[in-house]
Amino acid sequence: MFVHLHTHSPYSFLDGATEVERLVRRAAELGMPALALTDHDNLCGMVKFTSACRNYGVRPILGAEVTMEDQSHLTLLAMDSTGYSNLCFLLTRTHANGGRLNPLLPWNALPERASGLVCLTGCRRGQIPSLVRRREHGQAAERAMELRRIFGRSGLVVEMQDDMTPDSRRVCADLQALAGQLGVRAAATNNVHHANRDGYATYDVLKCIQACIPVSEPHRNRPLNAERYLKSAAEMEELFGWAPQVLADTASVALECGDVLPSACDIRDGLCRVLPHGLGHRALGPSPGHPMHRQGLRRRLLRGLLPLPDGCGRHLAQPPVRPFPGAREDAGHRHRLPQR
Ligand SMILES: [Zn+2]
Ligand SMILES: [Zn+2]
Repeated sequence: MFVHLHTHSPYSFLDGATEVERLVRRAAELGMPALALTDHDNLCGMVKFTSACRNYGVRPILGAEVTMEDQSHLTLLAMDSTGYSNLCFLLTRTHANGGRLNPLLPWNALPERASGLVCLTGCRRGQIPSLVRRREHGQAAERAMELRRIFGRSGLVVEMQDDMTPDSRRVCADLQALAGQLGVRAAATNNVHHANRDGYATYDVLKCIQACIPVSEPHRNRPLNAERYLKSAAEMEELFGWAPQVLADTASVALECGDVLPSACDIRDGLCRVLPHGLGHRALGPSPGHPMHRQGLRRRLLRGLLPLPDGCGRHLAQPPVRPFPGAREDAGHRHRLPQR
């Protein structure tokens, strides 16, 4: 069994080339029991992702790749509803701190919101993998120990990505050694940016748009090869066959992360249980076709809050309804029905 714990969709905005539903369908075709979505600094794709996962019988794992204040990346996955709530809080901090175009999370925000989260050390732009790539092993171990203190021994996972670029196998081996030294797990991911190998061309064009360059121009952010796709379990096993424990640990991390997003029905039922007098329905709005929905639409049309072409609203005036039960006819022009 292999589960991808690091996947980008178009909600990574120019850093994901395959639509959410197609990613999930591909994971289902490959017989994967679960899939994680980890877009950059947001959870915008979560509802679409969760419902696609439920349709295809794949367990959704919710997460995000967070940009830290030093521009390094960290992959966070929610294990339970506390983790999901903490992830939402951290992402809000990220956007409040850096602004809409440059979200950045302060390192000191992590300790108080670490519970329920699994922290993967990130891609090549992650602080620890970058240090290992530069062979600064002492500093890498120091940073990893700091994260282990925050997330605990079971909450920190050293992330290994072999994208078949020069040095990636050596970096993976060094990262595995680091995980052994710290007594934490290591997991293999493929930092997925497209579902199939042929999605590379689209992904490359997106990166050119992001860098504002023509496709004829080289740029350091353009992908070096077509390897960052949703590889099958066999392909990932071939890539990490030299580290079977890493593949086992990847599966164990996936098993710890549950489906944490409640369904729309659960939210509606929950709100209706705790709120009196139908306020739950009002908070979410009744479903289209519900008598309350039709009534509300009619009321807004009569009050002139919705534009209506001439002659289209004749049938709506009969019988007249008051905006609120018990509203007085003389309570002011807002409450008066239009003259027909
Ligand atoms: Zn990254
Ligand atoms: Zn990524």
